[in-house]
Amino acid sequence: MRPEILYPLFAPVTSLKGIGSRLAKLVERAAGNHVVDILWHLPVGLIDRTLTPTISEATPGEIVTLNVRVDAHLPANSPRLPYRVRCSDDTGVITLVFFHVKGDWLARALPVGADRLLSGKLELFGNALQMSHPDHIGDPTAGEALAIEPVYALTAGLSLKVMRKAIEAALIRARPLPEWQDAAFLERRRWTDWRSALDVLHNPKGAVDLDPMHPARLRLAYDELLADQLALALVREQTRRAKGRPIIGHHNLQEKVTAALPFKLTAAQQQAISEIAADMAAPTKMLRLLQGDVGSGKTVVALLAMLATVEAGSQAALMAPTEILARQHVETLNRLLAPTGLTATLLTGRDKGKARTTTLAGLADGSIPLVVGTHALFQDDIVFKDLALAVIDEQHRFGVEQRVQLASKGRGVDVLVMTATPIPRSLMLTSYGDLDASFLREKPIGRKPITTSLVSLERLEEVVGAVGRAIAQGAKIYWICPLIEESETVDLAAVTDRHFHLSTLFGARAGLLHGRMKPSERDQIMEAFAHGDTDLLVATTVVEVGVDVPAATIMVIEHAERFGLSQLHQLRGRIGRGDKLSTCLLLYASPLGDTAKQRLKIMRETEDGFRIAEEDLRLRGAGDVLGTKQSGLPRYRLADVSLHQELLDIAHDDARLIMTRDPTLASERGKALRVLLYLFERDAAVRFLHSG
Ligand code: ADP
Ligand code: MG
Repeated sequence: MRPEILYPLFAPVTSLKGIGSRLAKLVERAAGNHVVDILWHLPVGLIDRTLTPTISEATPGEIVTLNVRVDAHLPANSPRLPYRVRCSDDTGVITLVFFHVKGDWLARALPVGADRLLSGKLELFGNALQMSHPDHIGDPTAGEALAIEPVYALTAGLSLKVMRKAIEAALIRARPLPEWQDAAFLERRRWTDWRSALDVLHNPKGAVDLDPMHPARLRLAYDELLADQLALALVREQTRRAKGRPIIGHHNLQEKVTAALPFKLTAAQQQAISEIAADMAAPTKMLRLLQGDVGSGKTVVALLAMLATVEAGSQAALMAPTEILARQHVETLNRLLAPTGLTATLLTGRDKGKARTTTLAGLADGSIPLVVGTHALFQDDIVFKDLALAVIDEQHRFGVEQRVQLASKGRGVDVLVMTATPIPRSLMLTSYGDLDASFLREKPIGRKPITTSLVSLERLEEVVGAVGRAIAQGAKIYWICPLIEESETVDLAAVTDRHFHLSTLFGARAGLLHGRMKPSERDQIMEAFAHGDTDLLVATTVVEVGVDVPAATIMVIEHAERFGLSQLHQLRGRIGRGDKLSTCLLLYASPLGDTAKQRLKIMRETEDGFRIAEEDLRLRGAGDVLGTKQSGLPRYRLADVSLHQELLDIAHDDARLIMTRDPTLASERGKALRVLLYLFERDAAVRFLHSG
């Protein structure tokens, strides 16, 4: 349960002084539902109210602070008209405008003849300068000076003044908390406690206080990153402590498969295989991430792990994000399995009736040792006799919970996660900090480099001509059109138009593939492209994930500038898989923006997925790298992993160290760390502590 000391911070926004339910709705929309969310809502800019130009120097449209004399009050003679107050200095006149004035506060705030300090947005009304509802009205003779004010992200209907009021009230609520950071570390970094850091950030004295590298910001970012890494470390400890079991195969099946491979395993593959074998043989559960670029040969590594399970008399499951991929995996595995006499069974959501019943029975009685499937493998009615290994392909389409869900279908299930594409190191820590990792950096020998060229869309006709010649020579070609979620219909039109255009030239040899098609239809089209009469496949990014047609040697990507770097890399990975030379044409619309230019340049320079992943992070910032919400990436409030990478590394090590020294968080610091976990709403992780 949440520690009592945090109750005030998790109170609703309405509990703040001066924030009623109407304003609370707006504040919630801008910042979040709880007081703590308001604290995390840091300023995004400044208004400097210390400068006081004369009226003639002030610029309409800007927020200005003026030193004026109050000349006259001009009350409205109808409630629908505004109340005006005329003021001036030696250089000009300005009219203050107030609507819905009640009582006599204006007379008190702006006595005729008095000097006043006004701050607000200067407007031009016809030829006259005016300011409606100044943000501030101060008395300069009382020594009142206006300061630098923070600006916050707002929402329609919410004024800066109200937001600021909420912030100030929230700051009053925030009492000091026990220090969860290591004292020596804070000293070295010269960081203050979290409470003081909040004060600094919400009361900036200048632009430097808004800098994401300001020590106060770093302190809070580190708090957030540590909470996150500690939560992952706790989950990891818990999963490991939950009994695993040693799986040791006799290698018979593995040897049969490796002996029949048409290639030699690379050193990287061999190393990954032995790391996996060591994990599986250990009495703890395996939680390992297999990272490798497209085409680096993850499948065979996974298969050998699965075979170890079968050798030990248990079952293994491989889960893919789509039916196409599941189907493809089954085919690949069965080819590789031929010398063993074993087969892998497919189970997808499309299996119904008798076929499904038979498969379920086989899983339940153990007669099916190897199964490949989609999400369907999670379903409640699926029972394994003895599941010992779950391999999850293309992890970022699944979430952490699903990892846990599949593992719960057996006793001490080992989990091997395979990524579709390399993930930058920092992001790996944030989303897979709980996993050990093996890398396949080296490409299989004999892989031919892909030639990548940039071509302006103005030369589309030339490209079409070249495509025609290539088809005549027997090439298989992907033609990719962008699909952007927000305007799916428009994009769909683009892909169907392009298909129509190309089929007028190439007839039935041009196929069309997009996400709106039924899975069965898509499978047929893929099949026709892989083994049939389709030579040109006009498609959206549905071919992005894992699809394997080794005969395809050309890829045209239309509007390449609209794609993310990792996505381009992933797409390009669909070619260059066979023994022929491959070409990728990136068609772009001019003029190219700076970032797009850099992205395409990197694509031309390298095929190294690990480098591309890092560059992608650099160019895009952390938020978008893995694409969308599906990425399962935590959204940070205070940290930005593209800037605070160093902190993330430290937090990762710190969390692991804490887990060795104080795994139950029982020490003084440990108790404070529990508060930290709750403060950043990593409650689930704390639950693991109690059950463990
Ligand atoms: P990934 O899943 O990592 O994208 P795959 O496992 O699908 O890659 O492998 C891509 C291709 O490379 C497959 O056709 C596979 O048979 C082949 N391959 C795998 N390992 C090697 C190797 N050591 N040498 C040559 N080819 C390999
Ligand atoms: Mg794969």
